[in-house]
Amino acid sequence: MEILKAKDIQVIQRNNLALSGATILDGLGGAPVVGHSVLVRGDRIVAVLPEGQVPEDASRLDLTGKTILPGLIDAHVHLLGQRTMDNRDMTFIGEGLRAARATADLGRLLAAGITTVRDCGSFTALALKQAVAEGSVPGPRIVACGRFIERTGGADDAPYMPVAWAQEGGPWGPRLADGPDEIRKAVREQLRTGADWIKTCTTGAVTTQESSRPDLLEWSEEEITTLVEEAHRLGARVAVHAHANAGIKLAIDANADTIEHGTYLDEETARCMAARGMYLVPTHFVLNQLVERGAEFGTPTWVLGKAREVMTAQQDSFEAALRHGVPIAMGTDIGGQDLLPHGRNAEELALLVTGGMSTSDAIVAATLGAANCIGLEREIGSIEAGKVADLIAVEGDPLGDITLTQRVEFVMKSGQIVRSGKRMEA
Ligand SMILES: [Zn+2]
Repeated sequence: MEILKAKDIQVIQRNNLALSGATILDGLGGAPVVGHSVLVRGDRIVAVLPEGQVPEDASRLDLTGKTILPGLIDAHVHLLGQRTMDNRDMTFIGEGLRAARATADLGRLLAAGITTVRDCGSFTALALKQAVAEGSVPGPRIVACGRFIERTGGADDAPYMPVAWAQEGGPWGPRLADGPDEIRKAVREQLRTGADWIKTCTTGAVTTQESSRPDLLEWSEEEITTLVEEAHRLGARVAVHAHANAGIKLAIDANADTIEHGTYLDEETARCMAARGMYLVPTHFVLNQLVERGAEFGTPTWVLGKAREVMTAQQDSFEAALRHGVPIAMGTDIGGQDLLPHGRNAEELALLVTGGMSTSDAIVAATLGAANCIGLEREIGSIEAGKVADLIAVEGDPLGDITLTQRVEFVMKSGQIVRSGKRMEA
């Protein structure tokens, strides 16, 4: 964390806002900083400086008793406007309703202190990204993958619908592609519609369709390699949904960028990910909710069966990742369903801690770690001079009680106060 010297203060202009009185956790994982203010001007953090050096003309916001952290980042969500646990329901919902629901979800995310999300599969998210960026609707900044690219009959296909419908995909479905030529075209199409990332699956899935198997490989080596090469050539990174270890290896060998879920990660593969600095986004929240409360919310029994099957493996995999130092980013896989509503994203931090992470590391996973994972580490993820002023505050010490991150009291995004429990003094 940069701490300005007195001589530097002269360069600070009017219209500064000082967030004062709080403990600061900068997102870099170091010791908490006390006796300092975070100085914000416009959309940027100007400095972190001793209280006594705050310019006299700065407005002050007293956050005594609270801890300031960087805005939280969820590296794996789906802005789908989904509301039930049966994915087939999404087939019959129009794009307008989906978008309206997902827009409401953006408000919930921001109020909960989630200031950035990476959407890992939703056509709707591409429009929402633009709507948020232009200021038309409040919400977290969005990095979007557009439609996931999958083989015909793949993890998120809708085999109960005619194949022509499924190929079209709609806002819900994947873009189906088979063989290198179609895959190249599918990558280009997603980027044409504004996707920042490419999302694909090297294995089957748990929740999306009954016949999909988490241990089944979805692509040939040639297909996944083509997908990653084309995405990289055009400047986009690739996120890979992978449960089986063989699918994780397939993604690593193809030079993909992040592994989502990583349920059956073994020791050797964990070592390999750590050596490459490849991020794992473990998504504990959804699996936990499915196993604990899925039945109450009408989740199909085949989903519950598969969720129970992979639950223990996912915990073992997470422990292997921690043992070998695989970089971890916080991600939930929340889609907005009644069981999995947006706004509960910070519960993932508590699950990272239950799974074996320190509270400090869990906070890094949800801030600078997640920023690194999604490629925005130069702009967001830590409290440092020059970065975008995405800041939250909680009452008390989240290093002692990580669940405090579920009760965020102050939210600032890009220098704008979105939520504040305190009166501002001029
Ligand atoms: Zn997902």
